[in-house]
Order: sequence, then structure tokens, then C-alpha cells
Amino acid sequence: MKILETPQAFREWREEQAKLVGFVASRRVGFVPTMGALHEGHASLLKRARAQSDVVVLSIFVNPAQFNDPNDFQKYPKTWEQDLEIARREGVDAIFAPRAPDMYPDGYKYKVTENEVSTVLCGASRPGHFDGVLSVVMKLFQIVQPTKAYFGEKDYQQLSLIRGMVDAFFLPLEIVPVETMREADGLAMSSRNRRLTPEQRAQAPRIYQIIVKASSSDEARRQLEAEGFKVDYVLDRENRRFVAVFMGEVRLIDNVELQ
Ligand code: AMP
Repeated sequence: MKILETPQAFREWREEQAKLVGFVASRRVGFVPTMGALHEGHASLLKRARAQSDVVVLSIFVNPAQFNDPNDFQKYPKTWEQDLEIARREGVDAIFAPRAPDMYPDGYKYKVTENEVSTVLCGASRPGHFDGVLSVVMKLFQIVQPTKAYFGEKDYQQLSLIRGMVDAFFLPLEIVPVETMREADGLAMSSRNRRLTPEQRAQAPRIYQIIVKASSSDEARRQLEAEGFKVDYVLDRENRRFVAVFMGEVRLIDNVELQ
């Protein structure tokens, strides 16, 4: 498993891979972008990529541009050794793990902006967040040049925006959605779950249980608030129910398809 730390080094490796078989088109490159602190949700994306690709690339980059809260960025979990273990176990060929200055040589003067979907749900409470996401994903796509890229439905709004960007800019790759992996009690797996206290962790599965069962989004909000959650939003859109809540300073999101 190769570990590459700069866009330049990655490109050189990518070219070598292409040479091995003569031309790029014959190698299917499956790409899973992440911010590390890997869990079984990430592993399910890697498994899907492994099954559909000749070469699997994982990126690990905690992208400063997508954090609107500096405290959240500072406290984002880092579990490098464990990430390497999961990557090896899932048959990853290369990890791209750049540093921020190498990804933003322009100092983030250039960015990708979307003006509609990015202003609602998480976009409403996290200004600039989706500009940061779209910009870094565009950069990663240019460097990695994948055939297919895998994104979790856990971050459904992000998935929709990335699909929209790929269409808008005629990017030559396919976006593959992967269903949300949950703990046995229903809690959506998330790197941020590591930051919950044992009491918060015990209460967190109620988020999923309530949004699945409540008769309306207003009812779900009422129940969540009655159980002490600080609700950012609960909204029904396009046959899905979306939720974001704070548990202490940790913000958790989830979404489910409505029956
Ligand atoms: P992150 O490291 O949180 O930026 O996530 C990297 C990728 O993993 C994104 O496409 C996420 O949607 C996906 N992901 C995160 N959690 C889960 C989960 N519980 N199930 C499926 N995919 C997930």
C-alpha cells in the first residue's frame, strides 16, 4: 500500500500505474475521499470500490476549508494507525494524505460555489461549508482522476451537491452512492461519535429512532427537544427526512427515506 503526501507525488504514482498496462483507460480507479478517523461506514465504501475497480485510492484529508467552527476542526478525531489498518484490510492500493498548504497553493482564492442546495439544511447553519467541500472534492478529482468515486448517503446533501457539480462541469467520472452504515442500535456511524461522552452515546440512537417513527418533521423535532436534544433542523425534503442536532458541542446529522 502506497502512501503519497503531495499532489505531485500522487500524480507520478498515477502515471506509473497507467504505464503498467499501457494506457489509462484500461485501469478502473475507484476513489473514496475521507477525513480519516475511519469506521465501518468508510469501510463499506472501500469494499464497494474494491469490488468495482482495479486500483483503489483512499484520501485522508481533514479539509480546513469546510470547517466553519475552528474548535470543531481542532477537535476532529485523528486515528492514523488505525486508519492504515482498515485501509490495508480493505485492500486499498494507495492513500493520498496531503497537507493543507499543498492542497491550497492559491490560499483558497479559487473555489467552487453552488447557490441553491448549498444554502439549506447544513448549508444554512454552516456558512461556507459546502464551498469548502465542493472545492476540495474538485481538487481531489483532478489529482486522483478516478473512474468512479464513492460517497455515503449519510451525508446526503453533500452527495447531491457533488453529483450536481459532476454534471455541471462535465467531470468524466461516475458518482456511486453507498447506503448509511449504522451501529446495532441504529446510530449512524460517524467519526464524530468518538467525541460523545458515554451518556451522550447512550442517548444518541434516539435521533434515528425518532426520525424514523415520527409522523411529521414537526413531531420529530418536538420529541427530540422533549428528550433534551438541541435541534438544529428537522426537515422533510424530496421524500427524505433530514436531521441535525447538537449533543454538547458535537453536531450529529442523519437522514432517512420516508415510506
Ligand atoms: P467523512 O470522513 O466523514 O468526510 O466521510 C467520508 C465518506 O464516508 C463520505 O462520503 C461519507 O458520506 C461517508 N460516510 C461517513 N459515514 C458513513 C456511514 N455511516 N455510512 C456510509 N457512509 C458514510
